Amino acid sequence: MAVRTPDVSRLLTIDAALQSPAATVKEADVEKLRLIEELTTNVDAVQERVLSEILGRNAGAEYLNTCGLDAGDTGRATFRAKVPVVSYDDLKPYIQRIADGDRSPILSTHPITEFFTSSGTSAGERKLIPVVMDDSGRSHALHSLIAPVLNLYMPELDKGKGLYFLFVKSETKTRGGLTAWPVLTSIFKSERFKKQSNAYTSPTAAILCEDAFQSMYAQMVCGLCQRHDVLRVGATFAAALVRAIRFLQLNWAQLAVDIEAGELNPRVADPSVREAVAGILRPDAERAEFIRAECSKGDWDGIITRVWPNTKYVDTVVTGAMAQYIPTLQHCSGGLPIVSTAYASSECFFGINLRPMCDPSEVSYTIMPNMAYFEFLPLSTGEVPGAVDASRLVDLAGVEVGREYEVLVTTYAGLSRYRVGDVLRVTGFHNAAPQFRFVRRQNVVLSIETDKTDEAELLRAVERASALLRPHGTSVAEFTSRACTERIPGHYVVYWELMTDSGDMVDGETLARCCLEMEEALNPVYRRNRVTDGSIGPLEIRVVRPGTFQELMDLAVSRGTSIGQYKMLRCVTLPSMVELLDSRVVSTHFSPAVPHWTPGS
Ligand code: AMP
Repeated sequence: MAVRTPDVSRLLTIDAALQSPAATVKEADVEKLRLIEELTTNVDAVQERVLSEILGRNAGAEYLNTCGLDAGDTGRATFRAKVPVVSYDDLKPYIQRIADGDRSPILSTHPITEFFTSSGTSAGERKLIPVVMDDSGRSHALHSLIAPVLNLYMPELDKGKGLYFLFVKSETKTRGGLTAWPVLTSIFKSERFKKQSNAYTSPTAAILCEDAFQSMYAQMVCGLCQRHDVLRVGATFAAALVRAIRFLQLNWAQLAVDIEAGELNPRVADPSVREAVAGILRPDAERAEFIRAECSKGDWDGIITRVWPNTKYVDTVVTGAMAQYIPTLQHCSGGLPIVSTAYASSECFFGINLRPMCDPSEVSYTIMPNMAYFEFLPLSTGEVPGAVDASRLVDLAGVEVGREYEVLVTTYAGLSRYRVGDVLRVTGFHNAAPQFRFVRRQNVVLSIETDKTDEAELLRAVERASALLRPHGTSVAEFTSRACTERIPGHYVVYWELMTDSGDMVDGETLARCCLEMEEALNPVYRRNRVTDGSIGPLEIRVVRPGTFQELMDLAVSRGTSIGQYKMLRCVTLPSMVELLDSRVVSTHFSPAVPHWTPGS
């Protein structure tokens, strides 16, 4: 499979493009590119304005009043002096009151219209992030900057379609009647998104279908039917795209049957999905034969470009926890550029990638200063963020190249000096705007999809499961874990070294129950992904032989860790450590069922 690299003559800078717009830039894009230039040139002034706007509406609300601000206090100095740095747990009582129906101005004088459910959790519960009416306009404005940047490198994307595997999750109502749903679900259900549906091969009804199999099947069959129109293939996060490729691997034979007959598999039963697919699916024996020929080869090298030959790039986030999927995507895309376009969270939209064609390992995001007010806590490289001395915070315009920071946001919806939990490194500047590499999510040890499991949760889960070993006179002496994505869907692997008083072996059935017990103890986002779309496979315990963790420590010490400071890592990623653990496995056990999950939990 030929490796396609972008035509370097097209690697324009925004600046250069704007200087000769007629030759290179679509007229509609010029205004957007100018806006990027303006925002990134006047970073500090824009931040000052944003803070003043935010305080103008929120200084009169209860929370900032409690901090000592009054309506009309809109200056940076007062804000810095009086408002403390907080985490979600500090704001939870305020958020809970809003969720329960208190309509007084608690965090913001603007009404909270809905909540986004973040994939981060607090004490095992999902986080509810407040949203105000004009938030969607802000994130749409930022989102609309992505295409003009891409068009500089990949012109004529509007001549074809995007095959994007997009999914919604269930929504719930809070006690006070506000909708709580993931930010992406809110976007895909918006009227604005529906208006753009022509740009995608997936009918909106297929994206909005909550049944994961039916949604994926319908999106895949429509993508196959329009395979020559597809100019880009993607998903919001890489995990979903890899899952789609795996889906094709498992279902191509039935998909080909449907395409040959022009009849949709009856397993896709949702009437609105069937109706939408009927408008696209036509009997096409030749196409069906092509799919059979390509997919039965057994070799999935370059499958994306073989099936969708006009694909110019793969559009999906491969930074942060998603970096684990880069090798699979590189293999399946035959070397196409893999583009991570944006960095966003439920709390706010952070920024976009202004060099979209760069290597995945080089991706940096330029934070757009009009999205929220941003502050940064400097960290020594590798330092774990702890308690915060607010006097150490620096502004967006004040960060230094090469340093790592924890990011804090003050949002229009009323989060103030709020720790998002992400650690970023400054890699350079675009004009005066710093560009950030995503380094890690604080504390997260395991992540397959949108799940983010931290060390405390993992520890709790192991403790709960190990109670099942007690009747056998056995306990867990040591444990560590890793996210295993060699198979799709990926799953959590937890390595256990057991200690037994009785000398008895624990039976396999008990250890399988331990797997399920751990899953029951994990956070609701994990359990939802296990239950609703199978995007995480059954948790696995690998029992290793006695002495393995001593060997692991010896290995760490031989690599330079001091014995005195050695702490067992709760997650291993280093290949030599994984190899050592896997070579000492005496038995493996999988969760025999899915854990409990209820919408809204
Ligand atoms: P959520 O709160 O569920 O919306 O998840 C937001 C979090 O996902 C962010 O705070 C990051 O930790 C992570 N995330 C979002 N976009 C990216 C990205 N482009 N690269 C790496 N991590 C990301």
